[in-house]
Amino acid sequence: MIEHLGPSYQVTALSAHSQCDKLLEQVRRYRPAAVAVTEDEACQRAAQELKGTGVRVYKGPAGLVEMVQRGDVDVVLAAIVGAAGLPAVFAAVEAGQSLALANKEALVVAGSVLIPLARERKVPILPVDSEHSAIFQALHCGKRGEIRRAILTASGGPFRNAPVDKIQNATLEDALNHPTWRMGNKITIDSATMFNKALELIEACWLFDLPPHQVDIVIHPESVVHSMVEFIDGSVMAHLSPPDMRTPIQYALTYPERADGISRRLDLKQAFSLNFQPPDVERFPAIRLAYDVATRGGTLGAVMNAANESAVAAFTSGKIRFGEISRMVELTIQEHEVQPNPGLDDLLEADRWARNTANRWIEETLIRN
Ligand code: MG
Repeated sequence: MIEHLGPSYQVTALSAHSQCDKLLEQVRRYRPAAVAVTEDEACQRAAQELKGTGVRVYKGPAGLVEMVQRGDVDVVLAAIVGAAGLPAVFAAVEAGQSLALANKEALVVAGSVLIPLARERKVPILPVDSEHSAIFQALHCGKRGEIRRAILTASGGPFRNAPVDKIQNATLEDALNHPTWRMGNKITIDSATMFNKALELIEACWLFDLPPHQVDIVIHPESVVHSMVEFIDGSVMAHLSPPDMRTPIQYALTYPERADGISRRLDLKQAFSLNFQPPDVERFPAIRLAYDVATRGGTLGAVMNAANESAVAAFTSGKIRFGEISRMVELTIQEHEVQPNPGLDDLLEADRWARNTANRWIEETLIRN
């Protein structure tokens, strides 16, 4: 999508985990100076295929960290899924690279360390997540002290109107059938449990320095309003566009300018309506857990995220039922002794602890079933 922005935007470096073919295809198209491949076998293949082309191949997670610090990079678009993206995000900020952040887990796990570090290094963090891009843009309409609340919209996922027992026993196929967005498996399942919105609530608190009681969540099935900001006079500013990730990605890259977009445009020649409804925390406990985690803070963001990553993996491999994902996360949170002012090492330790604890609950569930 970057070609239409003209010659001042160039791809300097690309990364992949195991999808070597896709990476090589993009190398042919964008001619980057470097690539990083984090999975062993894929990395060997990439090195073989790129021999003699002048493209430098960085190896493994350590190589990725080295690559994002290159001097010829202006902006790092961080879009690795999960806590696995953390080291590269921190390395980019340490090196003073502007950060276009799609890896919400970096803030959920380690916002308490990442945000002060970015301030210290004077590194701007530009949100790529569509909801946060919307809030970021709406915030331009008023001053900091004039904000009453941010309102995160959520599509509600495939089980928006499903009864509890249907949600409990949903299959992988059901969970991957998202009504409005085409995304990777992890985020699609997170969208079905609403843990995606849980992560986004915490992400919003860090990005915009808002307490959780100033961030509301509303279900909006059409995914046309990407989020809103209400100001103290009662004005609510919303960001609307058809659901297309190219819009927020582009804005993160061109900010503070705007450039011609190539996404679908809002078509008002056809009749359509926009619907809003409050979220049901009984059917989607992730929302309740998110407010608790955001309020109590400390190591809990890392714990919620890690437990969820383990539970999603267990569901995907058929070990637990869909409804047990949030149960596993809740049990792990309940067992955690919160550390109030964690450093990065404490957060990574909390992440490891939560994966082990969640996996123990998963094994116990497996025996019981
Ligand atoms: Mg989002």
